[in-house]
Amino acid sequence: MSVSADWKLHGHLIGRQGSRRSLNTPALVLDLEALDANIATMADLAAKRGVNLRPHAKTHKSVDIAKRQIAAGAVGQCCAKLGEAEALAEGGISGILITSPVVSAPAVERLIALNGRCEGLMVTADHPDAVDALARAAQAAGQTLSVVVDVDPGLRRTGVASAADAVALARRIQGHPALRYAGVQFYCGSEQHIESFAERRAAIEERTAYLRTVLDALAEAGAPAPLVTGGGTGTHRIDLDLRVFTELQVGSYVFMDRQYLDCDLTGANAEQGAPYRTSLMVDARVVSANAPGLATVDAGFKAFATDGGPPPILSGADGARYAFMGDEHGAVIGPEKTTRLPLDALVTFAVPHCDPTVNLYDSYHVVRDDTLVDIWPISARGRSR
Ligand code: PLP
Ligand code: MN
Repeated sequence: MSVSADWKLHGHLIGRQGSRRSLNTPALVLDLEALDANIATMADLAAKRGVNLRPHAKTHKSVDIAKRQIAAGAVGQCCAKLGEAEALAEGGISGILITSPVVSAPAVERLIALNGRCEGLMVTADHPDAVDALARAAQAAGQTLSVVVDVDPGLRRTGVASAADAVALARRIQGHPALRYAGVQFYCGSEQHIESFAERRAAIEERTAYLRTVLDALAEAGAPAPLVTGGGTGTHRIDLDLRVFTELQVGSYVFMDRQYLDCDLTGANAEQGAPYRTSLMVDARVVSANAPGLATVDAGFKAFATDGGPPPILSGADGARYAFMGDEHGAVIGPEKTTRLPLDALVTFAVPHCDPTVNLYDSYHVVRDDTLVDIWPISARGRSR
């Protein structure tokens, strides 16, 4: 790779190697050192407890990041949707678990096609009709499909609603020769972002007690779960302590968005600081500065997911705050009305919520300090069906 290489995407110049400042903005920037440190920290923690990691790719949608996680010991990747799984499999990733139900006939057809080319593919199910449809399709294709029983932890998003329903579904899977009963998924989504560690721990202990009753019922019914998969960045330490999961589906830890920076992830060790660093940023530029104390940057609703509030400013405008100004623009509001940012000044933001923000971009601009070292495609961008 030559030092003066131009980086192009869809034929357009999107950056030059060597210079973060030369990037067209808004740009999604990834600090490689922080990313690798986050991957290593989580991998070490899980390995010490003998628990596998199957990190969730809904966060990064990237073959490059998946490969780094797998190189650090991960057993595969979770994918939220079939399209995401197809994109990762195309990039050579195996050991994929699809964590949402696949129910429509055309989707089941794609799933079976993917099963034929992706080693170790698994899918979750939470309804007998869905299990029967998977079985029919797998059988017609002469395949074996691995199915995980999704158990609802009380979120009422997906999952069977009771231990009895979990047993019935596991038995149904076992009854189909074309299906392999792979285990249980239990994802406590509403507990992940409880900011206090102690409160999060209490909530997860209570939910884990329920999971144990489900696992006991399955074992008694002759369907012990080989795989118990779940957990997220918010609860991973607690999950590792409670020793019920055989693998964790952690996602956001690779990036540490603002929503997770607000959470105490370590409890008693909080004084040691956050165990994961912010690796994901958005670089934006001042494109107008004609009002005192106010600069307009080129990053608005299309640059940040908006469900997590305004993005914090990391550098380029000390003490200022950001306010959305529409689709394409944002206001950087200075602490003093007299300060003015120069035109073209670079302002770097943390992202409020990583997963939906990543989905707004085609590529990661990968940096070491202020040097652009690579550009990685967001391979599964938009692949939400
Ligand atoms: N597993 C499932 C089923 C999820 O929906 C998510 C995120 O929403 C995760 C794992 C990853 O969670 P986190 O990003 O909190 O680590
Ligand atoms: Mn999220």
